[in-house]
Amino acid sequence: MYYNDNITTIKGIGDKTAKLFSKLQLTRAGDLLDYYPRTYSTFPEPIDTITDDKVTDGVAIAARIRSQVYNRHTPRMDVTTTKVEVQGIPVELVWFRMPYIRSQLEPGKVLIFYGALKKESKGYKMEQPTVYTPEQYGALLSSLQPVYHLTKGLSNNTVKKSVRAVLDEVLYEDYIPCTYLDKHELTGLKEAYEQVHFPESFDELTVARRRLVYDEFFDFLMRVQLEKSKEAIIENHLSIGNRNYYDKVRWSLPFQLTQGQSECLEAMEEDLLKSYASQRLVQGDVGSGKTIVAFLMMLRFLENGYQAAIMAPTEVLATQHYETFISYCRDYDLPFSVYLLTGSMKAAEKRQVYARIASDEPCFVIGTHALIQQKVEFCNLGIVVTDEQHRFGVKQRLQLSTKGDAPYVVVMSATPIPRTLAMILYGDMKISTIRSAPKNRLPIKNAVLDAKERMKAYKFIGKEIQASHQAYIICPLVEASEKTEAENVTEYAGKVQQLFGDHAVVGCLHGRMTPQEKNDIMTRFANNEIQILVSTTVVEVGVNVPNATVMMIENANRFGLAQLHQLRGRVGRGSDQSYCMFIRDGSDKDAKRLEILNKSNDGFEIAAEDLKLRGPGDFYGIRQSGEMNFQIADIYQDADVLSMVSEDVNEILSIDPELSSDDGKEILRHLRQKEHQIYDNL
Ligand code: ADP
Ligand code: MG
Repeated sequence: MYYNDNITTIKGIGDKTAKLFSKLQLTRAGDLLDYYPRTYSTFPEPIDTITDDKVTDGVAIAARIRSQVYNRHTPRMDVTTTKVEVQGIPVELVWFRMPYIRSQLEPGKVLIFYGALKKESKGYKMEQPTVYTPEQYGALLSSLQPVYHLTKGLSNNTVKKSVRAVLDEVLYEDYIPCTYLDKHELTGLKEAYEQVHFPESFDELTVARRRLVYDEFFDFLMRVQLEKSKEAIIENHLSIGNRNYYDKVRWSLPFQLTQGQSECLEAMEEDLLKSYASQRLVQGDVGSGKTIVAFLMMLRFLENGYQAAIMAPTEVLATQHYETFISYCRDYDLPFSVYLLTGSMKAAEKRQVYARIASDEPCFVIGTHALIQQKVEFCNLGIVVTDEQHRFGVKQRLQLSTKGDAPYVVVMSATPIPRTLAMILYGDMKISTIRSAPKNRLPIKNAVLDAKERMKAYKFIGKEIQASHQAYIICPLVEASEKTEAENVTEYAGKVQQLFGDHAVVGCLHGRMTPQEKNDIMTRFANNEIQILVSTTVVEVGVNVPNATVMMIENANRFGLAQLHQLRGRVGRGSDQSYCMFIRDGSDKDAKRLEILNKSNDGFEIAAEDLKLRGPGDFYGIRQSGEMNFQIADIYQDADVLSMVSEDVNEILSIDPELSSDDGKEILRHLRQKEHQIYDNL
């Protein structure tokens, strides 16, 4: 079996299961190797007594088979039952459609039954428990069991078995030159995969993770460097001498630009005086006002005859930018059109926009990934801006710039990255950081509440709504196996609506909605037709509704700090006092982390503190929110590996820039295999 073979080549995966896997973007056998567990579970010691508080999932009981084992055939299925006792307390065991289990249940034998313990009116019961001999179970006790992200219909066991099959059968080779593996004492790729999925101990997992983090950074940096080397140094032919509209708007804004915003604009101006084309990364915490900076610079290009494009990661955000830009054009009487281009627009609408863009009209073009489709041809694109750039891949960012003839490239990011890391990740891009928040902002007031105090939070929201403000509620997370996220949000929103009755209109937003549905809800929220927006984390990116002054985040302890900070950034965007309430479910373990957010509203500081608190053991629990789309690596936690990889990649390419040596070819082969769609042009 090869990495690129269809997933159906794996034993036990038929078309139906393959379809489920494809929902998780797993289509090739090798994809499963990179589908790392979400977390690990350990098997518990068998319980010694049965009491009501032991009634949960994942319980093990040790018991001797004494009673009869019954097999019943109903027209619908086979049911196997028997009774065991734990310290004199009877437990009924039931299996459906597993008549063969009977042969394992030998009378007199002590066995371990593992599963969900339930209490019913007749007594305790376990359905479908897995059966182990004490020896088998003893071996499992010390191991970590992978727990994968699932989708409805796909069980953890199926994923586990499939991964096992791939590990056993797929042929793959290490591609990192031995010199580097030895130098950094990295484990082999095969072992790393084996141990990240089925670690026998925590230490093993740590070792495996380090190797996979190395690889992830290696792939990324190698790709960036290769793409970069293809671009020759390009002369700058842009000129933006006219500045009437630019000055007019800049000096008549209802607010004064912050120092960071002004400095950023000036730095951009200098970039454009240079003889070579350059690129700029604009970093600024949530709410620091990056949009207006982009708008002003784009306007500058328009009045010099160019077209200007901005790409956003979601339709909601693109639509919002579109509306903001339209209102600027109206308010300042600017003679320019604004066009929106998103995937969900009708073909005829798109064609109209394509035609406008292809004409030489200077205009603002705002869009999602739809902007980089082949059909989109600009006539005279002078500047391309990528908003929330960490949500895009390297390739997508580059594709946007190829839509013009060496346009000015600006990428914007709200995730604060220390300068040293940014230099590695963004290569030769120049960096502007907007550090200060706009003057009129009051710092957000935070509170960490226990789940029991939820009513307090609702009351507080009620008060804010009475004061004509609006609220976000970030809905509890669901385990994939329970309900779908959509069902959960809808149900939760229903409860909130009931609670608030006539006092508020409650809307609900989740990832499964169509882009139009999402836009519709967001527009109604922006117009204050909805006062409480119950949402999954889809609101995380960029949305701006300054009248929303309060946010309540359920299960706050299960999010990464950076993500919580981004979420919280949806409030505190106007001059009114804003509030964020973090609801903590259960354990105190995370209290300390939430305390950081409670005390600070500064993204840079939060990232640094978060890092201090995290040990090497925090693998998956508290991820940064999609930072650069890394899957296992974390640029903060693994900063040392990142700089190590950066040196290695540079060294490899300085010796073998085309990757034409044997080692180099191996690396290329690997890159192609992982991202065949990206490397088909190499
Ligand atoms: P982000 O940097 O997160 O993208 P936005 O660009 O969405 O932030 O800006 C958030 C809000 O702040 C907007 O309503 C914007 O009009 C406002 N804003 C931007 N700059 C300033 C400023 N200098 N003073 C006051 N408000 C500002
Ligand atoms: Mg933004």
